[in-house]
Amino acid sequence: MCPFCDPKDRVLKENEYAYVLLSNPRKVEGHFLVIPKRHVEKPWEMNGEEASAVMELIFFVQKKFEQKLGGGSNVRENYMPFLPQGRTKVNHVHYHVWPRQFEDRMYQLVDKHDKQLFEDLSEEEHDRAAKLLD
Ligand SMILES: [Zn+2]
Repeated sequence: MCPFCDPKDRVLKENEYAYVLLSNPRKVEGHFLVIPKRHVEKPWEMNGEEASAVMELIFFVQKKFEQKLGGGSNVRENYMPFLPQGRTKVNHVHYHVWPRQFEDRMYQLVDKHDKQLFEDLSEEEHDRAAKLLD
C-alpha cells in the first residue's frame, strides 16, 4: 500500500493534480513534500499538467518560506529505484522542499562536509558527461 496514494489527513494544500504534505520523518522543521495525486514512480512519467501542478506547489512553498522565514530553500527529488521501500523510501514521486538559513543545522551536519566533494571539471570528464545527453 502506497502511503502517498491516500494521504488525506496529511494534506496541507492542494491543487487539481498535486498535494503538499509535511514530511514525517523530517530533516528540518518545515520540511514539506510535494507529490502528484496520481501514483507515478518516475518523474518523467508525470504528464504536463501534473508536472506543472507539482512545480506550482513547490514554488508556492518556496515563496512562503521567503516571506515568512527569510533565507532560502532546497528542492530535491530522489529517484533511486535500487533502494528498498521503507519509511524513508517511497516509490511515489515526491519532491522535498525545506527552508534554509545561513550556516543552518543542515549546513553544519551535511553541507560543510560536501565541500570536499567538489572538484574542478577536467576536459575528459566534461566530454564523458556531455555524451550522457546524446
Ligand atoms: Zn502512490
